[in-house]
Amino acid sequence: MALLLTVFICSPGPARGAEGKSTQIKLDEVGYLPGSEKIAMVTAPAKTFEVKRASDNETVFKGELGPVSLDADAGDSVQIADFSKLRETGTYYLDVPGVGQSWTFSIRPDVFSRTYYLAMRAFYGQRCGTAVDLGPEFPGYTHPACHLKGEFHPSSGKQGERDNIGGWHDAGDYGRYVVNSGITTGTVLWTWEIFGAKLEGIKLNLPESGNGTPDILNEARWNLEWMLQMQDDDGGAWHKQASEHFPGFVMPEDDHLPSEVIGTGQPPYKSTCATADLAAVAAIAARVYAPFDAKFAARNLDAARKAWLWSEKFPNVTFRNPPGISTGEYGDDSCADERLWAAAELWRTTGDGTYNEYFLRLYPDFRSSLDAPAPEGWRNVAPMGLWTYALGARKGSDAAVVADIRKRTAQAAQAIVERTRKNPYRVSLLAKDYVWGSNGVVANYGMELLVANALAPDPSFVEAALDNLHYLLGRNTFSLSWVTQVGANPYRHPHHRPSGADKNPEPWPGLLSGGPNAGRQDDVLKKLPAGLPPAKVYADDQGSYASNEIAINWQAALVFLLAGTLP
Ligand SMILES: [Zn+2]
Repeated sequence: MALLLTVFICSPGPARGAEGKSTQIKLDEVGYLPGSEKIAMVTAPAKTFEVKRASDNETVFKGELGPVSLDADAGDSVQIADFSKLRETGTYYLDVPGVGQSWTFSIRPDVFSRTYYLAMRAFYGQRCGTAVDLGPEFPGYTHPACHLKGEFHPSSGKQGERDNIGGWHDAGDYGRYVVNSGITTGTVLWTWEIFGAKLEGIKLNLPESGNGTPDILNEARWNLEWMLQMQDDDGGAWHKQASEHFPGFVMPEDDHLPSEVIGTGQPPYKSTCATADLAAVAAIAARVYAPFDAKFAARNLDAARKAWLWSEKFPNVTFRNPPGISTGEYGDDSCADERLWAAAELWRTTGDGTYNEYFLRLYPDFRSSLDAPAPEGWRNVAPMGLWTYALGARKGSDAAVVADIRKRTAQAAQAIVERTRKNPYRVSLLAKDYVWGSNGVVANYGMELLVANALAPDPSFVEAALDNLHYLLGRNTFSLSWVTQVGANPYRHPHHRPSGADKNPEPWPGLLSGGPNAGRQDDVLKKLPAGLPPAKVYADDQGSYASNEIAINWQAALVFLLAGTLP
């Protein structure tokens, strides 16, 4: 990585990537939709460009580069190559005289189908409590069942065994956390609700494939079943199930640290944020699974109602890691937004006026959160609550509130579109957004734009969502695709234990990297040159957990964004 950075910052000559391609031409290495904008960025001085067909090197498009603009976040001088008028299906590359050639990319209506498949199937690769095998497509990407035992930690208020088997490994580690599972599973279920018609026939080659339920729901159920087991008899949900400290870089079946159900350490032991997140997600599941498995849907609704009642009784029991626990915390000072989301989803599913009243009572406190130019995330789920109230408007919903949510969401999206167009790399990130998981912020801006499009359709929202996808797939300062095994120049060293511990030369496929992080919380980032602009504070290094870890929450936002691009 140090070498790569040296090339970018100091080299006056053309920068070459692994295959002799120029890293000074930045484009979506997967490609572009025929009817959408097609823009690449060039960061070396040049005047013209050509698009050539890969099969015979024929020039199919010629153009002039746009004026130079300085991207302050990356410290790059950027010129735009616009070949939007090229609509013919095919595989191409850019040739920029004096600079070099780009990696190849495609123009096709289904150009992102394979990426969607890999990104959604990556959740299967994260399955805990079962043997995983990616099959003949990825020979060697396999492991036996892991974490087949669980036990209560003293902080949970109980003792003895608790065999909560299943769920998804949260990130590069093997913990399972209800709060992060909440936003993740909720986002995946929303992907189905909003884009189901595009997804219905897409097989993910899961053990359950062909059982009559769409595969995206088969996969989401794996985590839902575990989440439901995290609910205690009184309705509350324990915050997390993880070891006391992170294991080494071993395969999951070789992690023998006890998998402990961890609570708050004092009555009522469960946390409100986890419980309300469970209520929200189980309420979505109750309506989504109803056509496929009425019994499972009913089980979810029962869990959601019980969780809601518990959260009424204990409206803000927050969680901090008890002494001796150093795995993921997902701590949050306020669970009011989680409760707002739960109320909105329960109202949307049941039509029970209690939830509507609660939502409307809290609405004035939360409506302004739609105006702030920051997308949703595990700590802030208020937008999910507000959007679902408008998306699922029904008899009894407050029409003025629905209209207000629609208007505010559209206005916020318009502001994001405007600044994305002005950004030299056409990404929605602000300088302050280059934080831990900045690629997740990018994907969540994409999701926010597509939700806005669902509420108040506007083609510019979709174009800006695609801009964010292009950034993740190679149109960035590193010319790097931030999804493993996707694109001609993907990152290769995620902070992901199975990728690090197995014998395969390439990492597990379809996983989104956390991305540039000006916070530099790990030793790899701390050693990067001082004064790097925020977009360049990244290392494709397994040790950089603060810039190169994978995580299910930003994976889910990527899946949502990709689903929106499918034909
Ligand atoms: Zn496991």
